[in-house]
Amino acid sequence: MPTPFSLLERRILNAKGVSDDQLERLHELGIAAREDFVTVGDPETLVELLPDLGAEVAGRVLAWALPAALPSAAAPLDTAPLNGAPTLASPLIVNTSDAVYCVHCQFKQPKDYGVGDLCSNCGLQAEPIETCYWCASSGPGKFCRVCGAQFVSTAELSLALLLRRDGVAKDDIPRKLDALNASEKDALWGRVRRARL
Ligand SMILES: [Zn+2]
Ligand SMILES: [Zn+2]
Repeated sequence: MPTPFSLLERRILNAKGVSDDQLERLHELGIAAREDFVTVGDPETLVELLPDLGAEVAGRVLAWALPAALPSAAAPLDTAPLNGAPTLASPLIVNTSDAVYCVHCQFKQPKDYGVGDLCSNCGLQAEPIETCYWCASSGPGKFCRVCGAQFVSTAELSLALLLRRDGVAKDDIPRKLDALNASEKDALWGRVRRARL
């Protein structure tokens, strides 16, 4: 069975000490791309899934797959789930400080980083440029510098525009998008598609 990892991903994983046989078993476990390691979340869980991988290799794999994880990845994770349910919280969201990581090279920006600065490591714009759903200007950072709206993810820009046409207030749009469940979003996407016809 061919593994769906890209050639580059396979080479990287090989270099980290994962054998082709282990790659295939990762695939059988449902780990088929770099992002799937985000769901796995930590080396401990990876070893539980694939014991012969070994803690060291698992650590290297997760360090690679979770580039934006906490700077102190060694910080002990609270591994005791309350009711035995697996905790799937992604460490990617647990950036406690407001540290900024370059979208191109994941380099953590220095303390004096300001919105719009170039990455001090690779020289590219460290943050993605977002388009404002409210005033249609664009810029880096989390908030529109023209009207102050909180940017929504690019993938959901169309939904935000739709909510705006619906008369939802500027500051309520990101909150509302966050609060929608999958089927409510599907319904909105249906309206977006119909509006394009
Ligand atoms: Zn960079
Ligand atoms: Zn704006």
